[in-house]
Amino acid sequence: MMGSRIRREKRTIARMIALYEQQCPQAISSPGHYQALNAYAEKRLDKCVFGEQKPACKQCPVHCYQPAKREEMKLIMRWAGPRMLWRHPVLTVLHLIDDRRPVPELPEKYRPKK
Ligand code: SF4
Repeated sequence: MMGSRIRREKRTIARMIALYEQQCPQAISSPGHYQALNAYAEKRLDKCVFGEQKPACKQCPVHCYQPAKREEMKLIMRWAGPRMLWRHPVLTVLHLIDDRRPVPELPEKYRPKK
């Protein structure tokens, strides 16, 4: 079941991707590209092994994104992050707080067997 942390992260990511698509000169102009990326990110969040306890994706030891998608999201975050503060201050501050959370231990079923 999706809780408030995952819902909020989806909202933040959607806003960052939209900002990048609409305003970044380097954004790709291929139709549907960013909707697909956002849908991909939402699916990752739905399946996140940490669930509501998730760390910031950039601190995550699992890295569930495909490498190319991960690189693209890093680019978007780097560009949109500083621009988010004025447009979505509450989401941005909460996101910055999430960034500082310690990475929780992996749930038992995902830990490597010894
Ligand atoms: S990168 Fe890590 S924290 Fe982010 S969604 Fe994937 S498993 Fe969860």
